[in-house]
Amino acid sequence: MTKAKLLVLDDEPLILTSIEDLFEDDYEVLTTTDSAVALRLLQEHDVAVIITDERMPALSGHKFLQQAKELSLATRVMISGYSDVSALTEAVNAGQIFAYVSKPWEPLSLKETIRAATVHFDLIQSVGTERELLRVLMESIPEPIYFKDAQSCFTRINCEHARGLGAESPEDCVGKMDSDFLDVEYAQRSYEEEQEIIRSRRPVVEQVEKLKMADGRLRWMSTTKVPILGKHQPVSGLACVSRDITNLKEIEESLRKETALLQLLQAVTVAANESSTIEEATETCLDRLCSYTGWPVGHALRLAPGSGKELISMAVWREDKSGRIEAFRQASESNSFPAGVGLPGQVLATGKAAWIVDKTELPDSPRVQAAKLSGIRSGFGLPILLDKKVVGVLEFFSFQTAQPDKDLLMLVEHIGSQLGQVIGRQRAKEDLHRAKHAAESANRAKSEFLAAMSHEIRTPMNAILGMADLLSETNLSPEQRDFVGIFRRGGAKLLDLINDILDLSKVESGHCEVDSIDFDLLLVLERTIELMRPRAESKKLRLISEVLPEVPIGLTGDPDLLRQVLINLIGNALKFTETGSVSLCVSLEQPGEPGLLRFSITDTGIGIAPEKREIIFASFTQADSSTTRKYGGTGLGLAISKGLVMRMGGEIGVTSELGKGSTFFFTVRFGVLSEPPAPLYLEKELFPKPLKKPARLHHTTRILIAEDSVDNLLLLKAYLKDSGFQLDVAENGEEAVEKVNSGHYDLVLMDVQMPVMDGHSATRAIRMREKHGQSFPIPILALTAHALKEEIEKSLQAGCSGHLTKPITKATLLAAISQYASN
Ligand code: ADP
Repeated sequence: MTKAKLLVLDDEPLILTSIEDLFEDDYEVLTTTDSAVALRLLQEHDVAVIITDERMPALSGHKFLQQAKELSLATRVMISGYSDVSALTEAVNAGQIFAYVSKPWEPLSLKETIRAATVHFDLIQSVGTERELLRVLMESIPEPIYFKDAQSCFTRINCEHARGLGAESPEDCVGKMDSDFLDVEYAQRSYEEEQEIIRSRRPVVEQVEKLKMADGRLRWMSTTKVPILGKHQPVSGLACVSRDITNLKEIEESLRKETALLQLLQAVTVAANESSTIEEATETCLDRLCSYTGWPVGHALRLAPGSGKELISMAVWREDKSGRIEAFRQASESNSFPAGVGLPGQVLATGKAAWIVDKTELPDSPRVQAAKLSGIRSGFGLPILLDKKVVGVLEFFSFQTAQPDKDLLMLVEHIGSQLGQVIGRQRAKEDLHRAKHAAESANRAKSEFLAAMSHEIRTPMNAILGMADLLSETNLSPEQRDFVGIFRRGGAKLLDLINDILDLSKVESGHCEVDSIDFDLLLVLERTIELMRPRAESKKLRLISEVLPEVPIGLTGDPDLLRQVLINLIGNALKFTETGSVSLCVSLEQPGEPGLLRFSITDTGIGIAPEKREIIFASFTQADSSTTRKYGGTGLGLAISKGLVMRMGGEIGVTSELGKGSTFFFTVRFGVLSEPPAPLYLEKELFPKPLKKPARLHHTTRILIAEDSVDNLLLLKAYLKDSGFQLDVAENGEEAVEKVNSGHYDLVLMDVQMPVMDGHSATRAIRMREKHGQSFPIPILALTAHALKEEIEKSLQAGCSGHLTKPITKATLLAAISQYASN
């Protein structure tokens, strides 16, 4: 351990020697009689204690110590020859010297004094080291650090904070307060806060605040202020550390803004996509942007139809309820904005979003006066872009002036494109809708034309077939009989075709309604098989039907349509099969789903080539062009069946192997009755079956024929020529009503389509009169070329007793007359 150094200055060499002797064991003793030498030694050595005589010839002890104090921290002790004690005590109190020793000294007491002085030196030095450490710390950390006393005055402050306060140096700040440097409001707030810390002895940790610095910059600071607590003493002051978090804040702020903008974009996109109209999408965008910006007014404009060169108001607004923008609204709605004129015009011209800082300063805008009146100042507009062309503009206004926000402008352009896409989609949807509508009405027109045409053909067919019938009853040569046979077969074929066309047009035009009635599945299948059996037998084919046990029997649906499809498919199977069998199987499409039935018709016939299996379901297509020649047919049956199956909520398809046979299958969804149907489905007798034995009628039976067509009248008369009935004729409905009223008839044959008054109206008039006169209702049979079910129902509703569809055969007519007239 090195010894502490002792510097002794005295003009008496003897004294020097005696002091050296006294201390040399414990100290390194430096002695001199020359004060200049002493000062040099002080500079060269790290002296702990200086001992000097008070009186010396060249420089007094006091003067020497003064200079020594500048050079060294050494503890100063004075030796004095006389005892001007009061002067020496004053020197001690003033901090000039640590202690004094009077001559002659007691060696022990001198030793004790120098030991104490050495301890003092050590203390001063360690305090100095601590101070230096604190200084280095305060100055090397580039954040404001400072101390304040209990009155909030700076006691110590680092350069960083001094700079921030705008002071020349840290020393300039000592003794001053925040109010000497910063704005009054902040200084006051800060003072109150510090006094509260001192009072409560509780620190404030990392308090974030915005500060206006001396140079005018705004900085975000995070400050910690801690009370300096003495033991059992009041708080003596505060230690404070601040961190400049402006950068962090700026990053945070830009992130927040970016997130908010993205959220806005997303919200607008979702809302715009969910809107069903352009107006709704536009309104949503106005709403969202106004809420985001806090701007009170939003307005939408679109390209004027026709010219497409200027923007006009869509009269879609978002505004505050005060009514203060009324003048501006009127000016906006009554003006149009060509490219370059006003804010919308600027957006239209550039295709980019635009910002106006103060609208009242724009002299060329047509709305500038109105804007002034309404208090509008800043505004921005965004283009609604479709295929890179401006098709509309959204504009927003504020009552305050606001500087352009570049991020916002960039984002709103995205919003404009989104809105443009909604408009594009909407337009496409409208175009599609129009095209679909046009296609549908064209299809309907086609179907209606087919229905009308089949009706028109049916009327003359009635005459042709009827006459062929009658002709066949006359005496003919074998050759003539052949000719008539050709006549009848050709006519029958033509009639099949007309019936098919009518069915198809019904399905395609949507006229085909699906009934929902309770029926017995087994009964429907039985009747259908019964109907097809003669054809199977004539070709020596087995016709089998099977219903699997899990299939429910009591169903709700349309048995007529089901039967029509079955007849079509079984008919085809029989037609295209020469040997073997045709079988019908009914099963569940899926186990556990009793309402969905699958009908499969399997044959052992010619089969269908794979590439034909799809196209045969289209109208007028056949698998093989030779089919018609060999088997006949029109290529309509499967198209009709497909249409009917689809109407019943099912699907149709085929599997087949060429030369081996085919299976046609279809599904239908029915309602399932919990019990077998109590009210059994009864087939509607649309065409009265010819009675095997016509009932005997009186020869005096009087029949009124209401028919305008000369040919058909001739035919009817010819049919009834030998019947012995008494016939009377009315040429239109009105005449028929008059005749029924005045004469006595047993039956009326009422054509439906007639001039002056149609058959239905005439029937209604007759029924009305019967009701009033309480007379017995006369049987009226409607005659029409319309084969539609609805037509039949119309006749029955008008009051007809029955309905015959042309062409009517002689047998059907006679049977109907015998049935109704005898009733
Ligand atoms: P059509 O039988 O009047 O020609 P369809 O629409 O009923 O009209 O049938 C279209 C075509 O499908 C038929 O011409 C025939 O080529 C083919 N086809 C239908 N059913 C069968 C079947 N069971 N076996 C073989 N081919 C069939």
